[in-house]
Amino acid sequence: MIEVTLLGTGSPIPDAGRAGPATLVRTGAQVLLVDCGRGVLQRAAAAGTGAAGLSALLLTHLHSDHIGDLGDVLITRWISGFGPAPAPLPIIGPPGTAETVEATLKAFGHDIGYRIAHHADLNAPPAVEVHECTEGQVWDRDGVCIRVAPTDHRPVTPTIGFRVESDGASVVLAGDTVPCAGLDALAAGADALVHTVIRKDILSNMPQQRIRDVCDYHSSVEEAAATADRAGVSTLIMTHYVPALVPGQEEQWRALAASKFSGRIELGDDLHRVEVNAGR
Ligand SMILES: [Zn+2]
Ligand SMILES: [Zn+2]
Repeated sequence: MIEVTLLGTGSPIPDAGRAGPATLVRTGAQVLLVDCGRGVLQRAAAAGTGAAGLSALLLTHLHSDHIGDLGDVLITRWISGFGPAPAPLPIIGPPGTAETVEATLKAFGHDIGYRIAHHADLNAPPAVEVHECTEGQVWDRDGVCIRVAPTDHRPVTPTIGFRVESDGASVVLAGDTVPCAGLDALAAGADALVHTVIRKDILSNMPQQRIRDVCDYHSSVEEAAATADRAGVSTLIMTHYVPALVPGQEEQWRALAASKFSGRIELGDDLHRVEVNAGR
């Protein structure tokens, strides 16, 4: 079984009830965090996990809403890992990730210096192990495999999606993308597809050009559902709602997805949890 928890279902626009984009994937003893938008560690705490417990951080792309709390994840893991030699945090992301991680650690350079000076058992900065990739298998540990494929979020490039396989089950995390061949291939036959969605029917009528621009490089609810249908997945899990999903409108969003996809549709608030089993 793979357990998917939507830690943050929000977007770049702050929302009182929705943290920034982040999804927790737990299977066996492994805890994978996919993206780390604002508020991620508060939501992770509510889901019963913390930065020190992460097996790996996976980044779909380097847009601010998806990496807003990267510094918090790095520093909090460092100061809350009380083991003798905390393992470096594996961070898997597209090219550019190493530079972003390095710059983030530099931004917290004073903090890191204060803590090393103050605590006898902190002798080195946070340990990370960054792996940049756009395609292929990137993880094979204790029965959990992760594969990566390019997505299409242009002009943001490169961007990637992840396919996590464990215990016979498979979950694909698309990130932000328009429908594309890379994602279709990655998601083919998976048990579940976690996809970010926007309402183009609403955004395309907004007066601000900058908001209408958002339509260019995201999938609408219907497009994400059509991707799920083409890939033959059993479950579509929608997240990253733009505009924010308003209480009472869940059925409207669900109906839009159901117009293109006849499988199980999951959507909801932060901490919505979905169990994904092999073959259903
Ligand atoms: Zn994005
Ligand atoms: Zn986004």
